[in-house]
Amino acid sequence: MFGRVPKKSDNTKFYEVLGVPKSASQDELKKAYKKAAIKNHPDKGGDPEKFKELAHAYEVLSDPEKRDIYDQYGEDALKEGMGGGGSSHNPFDIFESFFGGGAFGGGGSSRGRRQKRGEDVVHALKVSLEELYNGTAKKLSLSRNAICSKCKGKGSKSGAFSRCYGCQGTGMKITTRQIGLGMIQQMQHVCPECRGSGEMISDRDRCPQCKGNKVTQEKKVLEVHIEKGMRGGQKITFEGQADEAPDTITGDIVFVLEQKKHPKFDRKFGDDLYVDHNLSLTEALCGFQFALTHLDGRQLLIKSNPGEVIKPGQYKAINDEGMPHHQRPFMKGKLVIQFHVIFPESGVFSPEQCRKIESILPMRPSKHLTDMELDDCEETTLHDVSAEEVKRRKERQHRHREAYDEDDDDDESAPRVQCAQQ
Ligand SMILES: [Zn+2]
Ligand SMILES: [Zn+2]
Repeated sequence: MFGRVPKKSDNTKFYEVLGVPKSASQDELKKAYKKAAIKNHPDKGGDPEKFKELAHAYEVLSDPEKRDIYDQYGEDALKEGMGGGGSSHNPFDIFESFFGGGAFGGGGSSRGRRQKRGEDVVHALKVSLEELYNGTAKKLSLSRNAICSKCKGKGSKSGAFSRCYGCQGTGMKITTRQIGLGMIQQMQHVCPECRGSGEMISDRDRCPQCKGNKVTQEKKVLEVHIEKGMRGGQKITFEGQADEAPDTITGDIVFVLEQKKHPKFDRKFGDDLYVDHNLSLTEALCGFQFALTHLDGRQLLIKSNPGEVIKPGQYKAINDEGMPHHQRPFMKGKLVIQFHVIFPESGVFSPEQCRKIESILPMRPSKHLTDMELDDCEETTLHDVSAEEVKRRKERQHRHREAYDEDDDDDESAPRVQCAQQ
């Protein structure tokens, strides 16, 4: 192809399009293009063909190498590949590279049509509480569409394509149908032949690497840095790393952290860590000490103060042993311990032991009943109620309430009628 001298063809048209003399300087070219492109921009009601022509003319003449070829041999020489591809550039890209996409203050109205934004790809990423506490990096291998390296996303060997005849290159098809007297409905839909690209590539010219798809599958390894103190639901974004497509701004890959449940620690209220600990009754009354393994493997010695009594369900906290603050990991939340007291089983104390305990523990608050007072009382029997039963009864009451609430009576303090339970 490069062996023969191309025949001379018209080499003045581009200058005429831009309205400059052949001797025009780069500066004059720039000014001329700028003025004409704004005037003819399709967003301003200009002629799209004229706009394209301007972009193409400027693209060639602003490149000294291409301008040289054009001056010597004309447009056909560029088409034959001497200038490297030539005419397939998107005219809106050229315009935007010039004006930065916001030429009309609208912030890329042309972008909306020509350069659509690709979709973001969102992945859930499971992380342990240890990983969120200590920070870590995870290498993840993903496969994505990448612009074909062989054809640079053109889909064809020559870089050329012809206009899709299904849609005349617009990518959209409009069908009209009569829906009533004098009423016509217009429907616009994506052209099925070119799938909206507006282009067709002949079978012989198809790029062998991507088979004309313009993109190929690519394996990519991303290193996701999980910083100390990050939390579940937080997003880590890799900008412009999602599937590539021609004339498309590549979307982002977004990882959404999902914290796995921890068997021991629970993160609550920002950066506080909660942990449950069981104490025997003796420990609760007489003191305790134990080692707690933290999320970074450190052993924390946890002990009661002398003479301290721990009540069932009581909370105690250690400052600065909670989760690190994200981005300020030297600051940490609290580590809160909730104590549960395990009482001895019934029947483990003999009557003598009970008397001993009674002699040590504080006196009962309830006064001793006299025989007279006892005579006035009715005998009762205490039954065991399991936690499950309490839950069942609560749910049953809840259902009752809902049934009542539907009848609009909203007075919470009014006594509820319970079902008779026999
Ligand atoms: Zn290709
Ligand atoms: Zn089409």
